[in-house]
Amino acid sequence: MSVHANAHAADELAIGCHLSVAQGYAAMGEVALSIGANTFSFFTRNPRGGNVRPLDVDDMRRLRMLMEANGFGRLVAHAPYTMNLCSKKEDVVVFARRAMAQDLERMEFLPGNYYNFHPGSHVGQGSDRGVELICDALNEVLFEGQATTVLLETMAGKGTEVGRTFEELAKILDGCVHDELLGVCLDTCHVWDGGYDVQGDLDGVLDEFDRVLGLERLKALHLNDSKNSLGAHKDRHERLGEGHIGLEAFARIVTDDRLRSLPMILETPNELEGYAREISLLRRLARGGEA
Ligand code: FE
Ligand code: FE
Ligand code: ZN
Repeated sequence: MSVHANAHAADELAIGCHLSVAQGYAAMGEVALSIGANTFSFFTRNPRGGNVRPLDVDDMRRLRMLMEANGFGRLVAHAPYTMNLCSKKEDVVVFARRAMAQDLERMEFLPGNYYNFHPGSHVGQGSDRGVELICDALNEVLFEGQATTVLLETMAGKGTEVGRTFEELAKILDGCVHDELLGVCLDTCHVWDGGYDVQGDLDGVLDEFDRVLGLERLKALHLNDSKNSLGAHKDRHERLGEGHIGLEAFARIVTDDRLRSLPMILETPNELEGYAREISLLRRLARGGEA
């Protein structure tokens, strides 16, 4: 298969891993190519402090050209995980909204990709109040005609996280004016820790997703094994095949007609070498090969 195909061929997965943005955007594209990836994720700003890199439009343009020349699938950018749109503290909410607005402005220089975020933690205010605050934020920040689809990530239900159930995510979508700009990113470790059995009953989980949210909302996957058992509400990622979900489940995921065309992002505890191995393993499994 030609690596220079203009869009990734239907039989090739769009798969990659989380990469560091420290050397810039085009550099991430080069790293992705070097490990056999044709998509990736990156933090739009410092994941803890929230600081942002100076805008380099030229660097972003170089990445776009590289992606086009190499048939990349859509990128799945990741908002900083400290960003909490439904905090009890007003300054935290104000910062989160401002950060997301600025991130989306910048994403316009990489049009047509995804921006994934953790819905937030309601910190004791209750799930309904959390959902309300998240909707208020999205209604303020999303703008008509934006070139980025914003994805709510399915969460493990650690602490007071909002988004552990598909129902909670559906409530957020229902409360958003611009719901056409929204989708869902399913994290296999998170849903597993949240109580959805993607190992024993992938079909059932996807049917449930379809019933509650509609499968057309599912735009991307985070592929992570889990250090914990079903329903543990922990959120500790493990390498594929070394956790409680197991490799057979990932073989089913990459061959499922409802999932195989989605960008798949690894967030497993790995260095680049480990990611390269997992990417080629998943490509092999997608072709029906042995692990
Ligand atoms: Fe995440
Ligand atoms: Fe994730
Ligand atoms: Zn996680």
